[in-house]
Amino acid sequence: MILVFIGPPGSGKGTQASLLTPEFKVISVGDLLRTIIEHNGEGAEVIKDFINSGKLVPIDIINQLMQNYLKSLDISQNVILDGYPRNIEQALFLEKNCINNFKVLFFDISNNVLLQRLKGRFICSNCKKVYNHHYYVPKVLGICDICSGNKFENRADDQIDVIQNRLNLYRLETAPLIDFYKKNNKVSFINSNQPIDKVFEDVKKVLRSY
Ligand code: ADP
Ligand code: ADP
Repeated sequence: MILVFIGPPGSGKGTQASLLTPEFKVISVGDLLRTIIEHNGEGAEVIKDFINSGKLVPIDIINQLMQNYLKSLDISQNVILDGYPRNIEQALFLEKNCINNFKVLFFDISNNVLLQRLKGRFICSNCKKVYNHHYYVPKVLGICDICSGNKFENRADDQIDVIQNRLNLYRLETAPLIDFYKKNNKVSFINSNQPIDKVFEDVKKVLRSY
């Protein structure tokens, strides 16, 4: 089963995707891009500029990045595309690569809730596990639950002015995907305003219905 997670920044896509591992392999474009930046890979500087100003990374870079992943996907695998596609152009590229048989989970959330969440987000510098100062801290304070690392950081794009750009872009470019996919009856709506475990229950309910 292939799932596509769509939702505004901070709506909990990554958090819910990580709860579905290892049953699902997660392909997070944001994580892939941040890894390129961290390892100074091809296009790192350009990618960094776009991410840090809250813009979508240009389509040719995204297409090149995704092509190999999409080629090797088959629908008997359990895969989550987290944060992809992010606009109609990317959705058409997905179709062109014969990935048609998937379900879309749309993480619906109100603006004030997501702002609170983005302001509180921090990640483990080593394994990139996502936490939150207000809602989800490591079990032992200061020690990552996953890798026992003790260094944490904020994401460069979780600054209020950049968040605002990302939200505007989401409304303009990504939100239209909901209607695009609704036509094929592929969209399930998840109320993301709830606590993590409640959202997860709803996600599992939707998955059971497929
Ligand atoms: P996205 O991948 O959609 O940008 P994340 O999964 O990174 O969102 O979540 C954004 C922030 O909100 C993180 O700090 C995460 O720990 C926290 N978070 C995610 N889901 C919830 C929730 N249901 N309730 C409270 N905090 C949450
Ligand atoms: P969030 O869901 O919180 O915005 P992501 O990690 O998914 O976080 O994305 C962070 C940034 O990476 C985006 O603001 C954008 O600059 C870039 N990015 C992620 N996915 C894509 C994509 N599919 N197309 C273009 N840029 C992307």
